[in-house]
Amino acid sequence: MGVARYWREIPARYSLIGSKCNVCGEIFFPPIKICPNCRRKSIGNIKDYKLKGKGVVESFTVIRTAPPEFERNVPYAIALIKMEEGCYVTGEIVDCEIDKIHIGMEVEACFRRIQQDGSAGAIYYGYKFRKVD
Ligand code: ZN
Repeated sequence: MGVARYWREIPARYSLIGSKCNVCGEIFFPPIKICPNCRRKSIGNIKDYKLKGKGVVESFTVIRTAPPEFERNVPYAIALIKMEEGCYVTGEIVDCEIDKIHIGMEVEACFRRIQQDGSAGAIYYGYKFRKVD
């Protein structure tokens, strides 16, 4: 699947739009159609919700060996980020030395050029995350 098609299919990832269940108030990412908490009661009560883009690094992986099709520098870090809203987003950490990345680090979303290569889904995202000073 080409990058262009991938992007058309996942505007939610590009714009950090998730879903909010108006019954229980929980926020989900990626977006959902039916809230797993409220099930049938949530039908018609799920609204788009734009994440603020702020969160905390919950865990991360440093990629030191890139697949051959990558044309990018290693190492780089892919983090699981717990967003302010309580849901989780996976993204690359940029503008930060690898050694300085740590669990609990506050980050915010920033938009970066989309990579045209790679097999680790996370690097296709239009947003990445940088440290909040
Ligand atoms: Zn709900």
